[in-house]
Amino acid sequence: MAETNSVSDEVFNPPVSLQAQAHIKTMQEYEELYRESIDDPESFWKRIYETFYWKSPPTGPFLDYNFDIRKGPISIKWLAGAQTNICYNILDRNVENGLGDKVAFYWEGNNPGDDGKITYSELLVQVCKFANVLKDLGVGVGDRIAIYMPMIPELTVAMLACARIGAIHSIVFAGYSSESLADRILDAECCAIVTADGVWRGNKLLNLKNIVDRAMSLCEKRNHLVNKCVVVRHLGPKCENLVDGMISNNLCEESQLGKRPVHGFKISWQDGRDIWWHDLMGTVDSVCEPVWMDAEDPLFMLYTSGSTGIPKGVLHTTGGYMMYATATFKYTFDFHPDDIYWCTADIGWITGHTYVTYGPLANGATSVMFEGTPFYPDAGRFWAIVDKYKVNTFYTAPTAIRSLMKFGDEFVTKYSRSSLRILGTVGEPINPEAWLWYHRVVGNSTCAIVDTFWQTETGGHVITPLPGATPTKPGSATFPFFGILPTILSEEGHEIKGTGEGYLVFKQPWPGIMRTVHGDHERFETTYFKKFPGYYCTGDGAHRDKDGYLWITGRIDDLVNVSGHLLSTAEVESALIEHHSVAEAASVSHPHPIKGECIYCFVTLKEGHNLTDELVMELKNKVRHKIGPFAQPDFIQNAPALPKTRSGKIMRRILRKIARGDRDLGDTSTLADESVIDVLFKYRAQDA
Ligand code: ATP
Ligand code: MG
Repeated sequence: MAETNSVSDEVFNPPVSLQAQAHIKTMQEYEELYRESIDDPESFWKRIYETFYWKSPPTGPFLDYNFDIRKGPISIKWLAGAQTNICYNILDRNVENGLGDKVAFYWEGNNPGDDGKITYSELLVQVCKFANVLKDLGVGVGDRIAIYMPMIPELTVAMLACARIGAIHSIVFAGYSSESLADRILDAECCAIVTADGVWRGNKLLNLKNIVDRAMSLCEKRNHLVNKCVVVRHLGPKCENLVDGMISNNLCEESQLGKRPVHGFKISWQDGRDIWWHDLMGTVDSVCEPVWMDAEDPLFMLYTSGSTGIPKGVLHTTGGYMMYATATFKYTFDFHPDDIYWCTADIGWITGHTYVTYGPLANGATSVMFEGTPFYPDAGRFWAIVDKYKVNTFYTAPTAIRSLMKFGDEFVTKYSRSSLRILGTVGEPINPEAWLWYHRVVGNSTCAIVDTFWQTETGGHVITPLPGATPTKPGSATFPFFGILPTILSEEGHEIKGTGEGYLVFKQPWPGIMRTVHGDHERFETTYFKKFPGYYCTGDGAHRDKDGYLWITGRIDDLVNVSGHLLSTAEVESALIEHHSVAEAASVSHPHPIKGECIYCFVTLKEGHNLTDELVMELKNKVRHKIGPFAQPDFIQNAPALPKTRSGKIMRRILRKIARGDRDLGDTSTLADESVIDVLFKYRAQDA
């Protein structure tokens, strides 16, 4: 594959003050522990295992697995036979250990000034109560519960209540349509759903209950009955006026309205099936014994973002996931008990599962939970919240960073941000330009940046710097986490040693790896283990540089082959966004009669710029100079917005179709905003 110099070689050492008190202070320390985690996983993970409460120890080997499809079915078992409960470990034990009055979450609502907090002991009581509610509703071990909720503490309560009684939560991001929600309910065969009446996201009011109602009737049409729908009253009204199956606040006294009343807000209601959360919670006991689960019993299922196709129902189990979420949170964010930590991800994504709920709570951390968006009431909201709670560790996505860059530095610099120590990113490759902005502007050049590569499937970080130890390079996720043995393979399946580029695969299991695709073990084996027998295949490409740093180059399906040169979309896009006029860019392959494939680019310009012929030439030259003449794009089109998944990732498979003028776009249900499609077709390069 092409060796290019498109990546920055600048190295940033860990900030000295952070390093001094870090859990892992040097690369040598990291390397020693890393070696142990690979050569003797049992000895490494046993230390983490011992930090938890186990009702009984494993009955078989600590780790038992088959990663090689030629030898039989793929299976991964950590700690099989051991009994534990993750909810007990992350709540009861923290309370028993004196953290009862510690704040678990500072909750920050969509509107500034609308906030609250919940301590560990308060959270435990709420969770026990809701666990009793679920039991009263007939929910038991192994039942699947759909959760479709805004970012409010009740969401964490609902998920941990499931974990407490051995029910499996299946959280669907509360931005998906009724159809997508119904597909996920049906696939998981959920017997109940937990939701809220509605939520404000920025200036937009979402009637969640009505979306859920439509989803339930779609399920019914397909012969699946959701028996119970528990509804959190988040927007009011506090009075219950049921008229013709609708609850409306038109008939309420001012004093009976909720905290965030919306005049004329109505939700539909079906007595018997639909029940208010507060009605149920009012009558139950606040003590609930945890159900002891096998380490390999399912904890939750979660659908992937759907960037590349139909989402997969990824299944995670109890013991391994608990160890992995806990360890990655502790080391990647170098957690200390007084930290204030904030992950902006919605709990509807894996990042929110592992790094809003399980990882931070397991470590006894205090976190911020944010309901709103980075742009409301203006583009300074993130930094206002950082100052308000004195956040030390902040974790967000490249898409948020790139969008905020567009608005200019003033929205950042008008806040102090002096509490920040560690800045994390996840979700897509971060372009060096965005990395540097995050470091210099947001972090005042004093913070460690952790670019964490991982997937829904991996349960937690797999390639990531450790902030006190790893010298970082902008755009590189650097080195493997403990227990991760990455390899780069050529198309033919040969291991590429030293520098080179190819398929990123992992050679042995770590505790947090998914165990199966819900209801379809064959899809699990085909998707991840078939192409290269003996390895877990991420589907992403990576490049190893001369210093051994790993650079994620994007999805293998997105590679472009120009006259025999293989190029990653990330390289081309990074070159484009280095230009001062470009806010975001996406590149895709496009058929070409001579070269085989050529590069077609979509660029979102910053405010005040137009895509003139001159600018198109400048951008083409930028890529040409940065990467090489062969990489010069043939087409550059204006993209007022890019098609993204609801988690904010660019969907290049749709852009490939647009470039070709092909309206048959495949599954678009995971697309955040369908209206961008027509706009992009309108601006399509005429001669393409
Ligand atoms: P689907 O599997 O349905 O196509 P998805 O892969 O977008 O959806 P996720 O599990 O949410 O679903 O995302 C994982 C993917 O995100 C990775 O495979 C990788 O492509 C990308 N990714 C995540 N973090 C990083 C990172 N730090 N650097 C580069 N890419 C990243
Ligand atoms: Mg994926």
